[in-house]
Amino acid sequence: ATAAPARFASAHEALHTVFGYDAFRGEQAEIIEQVASGGDAVVLMPTGGGKSLCYQIPALLREGTGVVVSPLIALMHDQVDALVRNGVRAAYLNSSQLAGERAAVERAFLDGELDLLYIAPERLNTEGAKHLLARGTVSLFAIDEAHCVAQWGHDFRPDYLALAELAERWPEVPRIALTATATEATHREITERLSLGGAKHFVSSFDRPNIQYRIAPKLEVRRQLLDFVRSEGVDAEGRPVPGIVYALSRATTEKIAAFLAANGVNALPYHAGLDPELRRSTQDRFLREDGVVVVATIAFGMGIDKPDVRFVAHVDLPKSVEGYYQETGRAGRDGAPATAWLAYGLQDVVQQRRMIDDSPGDLAHRRRLSAHLDAMLALCETVQCRRQNLLAYFGEASEPCGNCDTCLEPPASWDGTVPAQKLMSTIVRLQRERRQKFGAGHLIDILRGKETPRVRQYGHDSLSTWGLGADLSDQQWRGVVRQLLAQGLLATHGEYGTLTITDAAGEVLSGRRSVMLRTEVERAPRSRGAKAA
Ligand code: ADP
Ligand code: ZN
Repeated sequence: ATAAPARFASAHEALHTVFGYDAFRGEQAEIIEQVASGGDAVVLMPTGGGKSLCYQIPALLREGTGVVVSPLIALMHDQVDALVRNGVRAAYLNSSQLAGERAAVERAFLDGELDLLYIAPERLNTEGAKHLLARGTVSLFAIDEAHCVAQWGHDFRPDYLALAELAERWPEVPRIALTATATEATHREITERLSLGGAKHFVSSFDRPNIQYRIAPKLEVRRQLLDFVRSEGVDAEGRPVPGIVYALSRATTEKIAAFLAANGVNALPYHAGLDPELRRSTQDRFLREDGVVVVATIAFGMGIDKPDVRFVAHVDLPKSVEGYYQETGRAGRDGAPATAWLAYGLQDVVQQRRMIDDSPGDLAHRRRLSAHLDAMLALCETVQCRRQNLLAYFGEASEPCGNCDTCLEPPASWDGTVPAQKLMSTIVRLQRERRQKFGAGHLIDILRGKETPRVRQYGHDSLSTWGLGADLSDQQWRGVVRQLLAQGLLATHGEYGTLTITDAAGEVLSGRRSVMLRTEVERAPRSRGAKAA
């Protein structure tokens, strides 16, 4: 076998000639220097920060082929296409290829005709692939989406664990691990599990100052979304701008897309269940046409290099802060103002708790999912700066940002101790005295003194808390429940979202602890003109 020769003598020359850029950004130059000179690196850099060059350029400076481990086949394809257009000799190996194509790539690698070789982790973990790499010359290993190795992270992939072996088998080959989402715990896990103890660490700020974060209680989500798209979905000249709306289920993406389309928005659904041909064309239209709004499951957006996405909206609660940060990070990669908008409600909490309860896997796994959800809820319910909360989650201290909803319109808060006590004691009475558990809807009916058939059936109008909460509206009560859940004072269980109190609630019931709640504006939906889909 022959080693691919070094293509350039200096990083600047490669930057200029291949990529057409004048200067490095952030820490790119230092990272490239570290890897090109044979050292290991761990790189934490937000989406859009320019991670790819950090391994592509060293691969062009070193003899041999740079091997890039990447979990997303679609992304691989696009990256390789873009590199080839720039004159880089790049190829990939994955399960979507025919045997003949794969053999041609393997031959090119062995003949020293590849600067970069992309490979999926499950493929790299086969003896065949390792044998292939051993016969040729590897200039470096780049491990993209390195947070996937973290079992405590939000996107664990077992195939990543085996990548630890690279250090043993190729001790002299530099390795660079990169990710756009890493808490301190994940950062530590990446370093340990990938045996990167001797690596240099490059941690960029995770702040995306041009993104305005906004989180609203969910009332009538489709109308709220339409209001949002009508106000944020146009530029200064009133022309529609590109955006992404994320929903958890395929069915929701289709319904929301149809609703937006019926109201004059150029909206298209996107999810893994759609025909590949249609998915391709939707992606193409999003990239090429003006002002397309894609309503998608999280499958959409990874690896799509569209710098001018002006908004990302979530109509369902993301499962983790990492996921939320990654998805919202797809807005405003060009640095111009962009908005991240999220609507979430009590039902989101109930639904996600249920999904966690039902999820396969052991207790530790469910605890992990639960901790991720709790952090997401804390971000939603904070009365402080959203960005401060978000950055603190990633271990970064900051000042209030002035560009999020809580900074721009500081939320009023009120003392919700008494309503919290009324609700909690209703739950406790029913559970202790009658061995019954109920969801929020029925508990609120009791507190508001509504004579529903269910109330009559169970004789709940004889409870001492019956009608004690008539001073708050249904919606206000739902807000109370949601916030108590987020504060860890209540817990929800099972299919019906039955509520129980937590140990921490004892202090509230006994009056030793007060509960401050965010005041929510009850506002009538504005877009009355909305048509049903
Ligand atoms: P990441 O992988 O961190 O999300 P990319 O590597 O995809 O980011 O880079 C984001 C965008 O920034 C790409 O369009 C890339 O071409 C561009 N870019 C990267 N580095 C530079 C640079 N030094 N100068 C100008 N543009 C850059
Ligand atoms: Zn702020």
